[in-house]
Amino acid sequence: MVTRLHEAPSDVFNPWLHIASLIEQAGHLLGLNEGLIKRIVTPERILEVAVPVRMDSGDIEMFTGWRIQHNSSRGPGKGGIRFHPSVNVDEIAALSADMSIKCAVVNIPYGGAKGGVRVDPALLSRGELERLTRRYAFSIAPMIGPDRDIPAPDINTDPQVMSWIMDTVSMLAGHSLPGVVTGKPLAIGGSLGHAGATSFGVTICTMALLKQLNRPALGERVVIQGYGKVGSPLVKLLSERGMKVVGLADIHGAIHVPDGIDYLKLAAHFEDAKSIMGYPGGDEVHADELFSLPSDIAIPAALGGVIDEKVAEKMSASMMVEAANGPTTGEGAAVLTSRNIQVVPDVLANAGGVVASYFEWAQDLQGFMWEMELVQQRLEKTMHDAFDAVWLRHDQLNLPLRDTALVVGVERIAEATELRGLFP
Ligand code: GLU
Repeated sequence: MVTRLHEAPSDVFNPWLHIASLIEQAGHLLGLNEGLIKRIVTPERILEVAVPVRMDSGDIEMFTGWRIQHNSSRGPGKGGIRFHPSVNVDEIAALSADMSIKCAVVNIPYGGAKGGVRVDPALLSRGELERLTRRYAFSIAPMIGPDRDIPAPDINTDPQVMSWIMDTVSMLAGHSLPGVVTGKPLAIGGSLGHAGATSFGVTICTMALLKQLNRPALGERVVIQGYGKVGSPLVKLLSERGMKVVGLADIHGAIHVPDGIDYLKLAAHFEDAKSIMGYPGGDEVHADELFSLPSDIAIPAALGGVIDEKVAEKMSASMMVEAANGPTTGEGAAVLTSRNIQVVPDVLANAGGVVASYFEWAQDLQGFMWEMELVQQRLEKTMHDAFDAVWLRHDQLNLPLRDTALVVGVERIAEATELRGLFP
């Protein structure tokens, strides 16, 4: 039985309890002993920090932030930092465990970590955002570093936020530490090919799934939830491969375009309107209807917990590729399985971002930057190898891809944990 991290109401979906029980199940399936399973489930470090910020008005506001290192058996912690009003300890713990599994599934030498601040950054000025970021970075600085835990962007954080974190930690150290965060701008040790890497990985997984199912990409109808960092490059990447994006949602609503969205027209419209709503030729539909629109492939690329039982029951697509982290609830996953909807889970589908982060970190440590072709070629190979390893195991075990990815990840973490033994 996994432990609760705080007294969250029991009727709300708790992402931490969900991932913890999935890891436990995978451990049992692998025949691991209970002690080892408990070690793998339990986060190694949970740091909660108060983040006081002087607002432009002169008043001081308090925010709360976390950094959680879930497991470091396979290497330093790795995982993004998100700024969002919904952030809480259960969410960050769940996402840190997802990162442990994700890094193991794509076989990169990292453990899992995650951080976040409970804040709506849209309400902050640029100065307030910088002060919040720097104070949070200062507070978690004892825990992070190129050889211990390497943050990256996640929801509502970007290369500028990473630059401020890198600078704050470097100032504290007294020298420049580019390898302390990934997803940085190129000018300060970022990598070519990092921007858009998550979407590229989602595209590779979508194409690999279609190939396994003997379905040509041409004409496959896709619905995408989210038109941000991950969703927006996806519209282009999937359209270029012959798929039709027939439904799309952003925070303002959803549109239905049965003939497929023209990604160039959409990008031009978005530039002016700052929303997908009003896209010429699109019918406005209720955001709740997105996944019920006639389609073949569903791609959640926004927040977690959105594919619940109800959405899963009405889902029109027969395939889903999880670009978001933790988009599906336990009940939602059970319905998708019972309806034979083939799902490429988040820990595999959206791992392109962290793989590109690994390449950025390796370049920073080497002090030697790679060309775009090399990044893309290695990203493609890493994602293909991971997809193939999970698919092969899925055939052998006859389990849904989600459970199979968990088995592959937990097995690799268990191997490292056993080899290292228990200190003292
Ligand atoms: N935030 C991304 C993720 O959830 C990237 C993490 C990273 O690059 O460390 O996978």
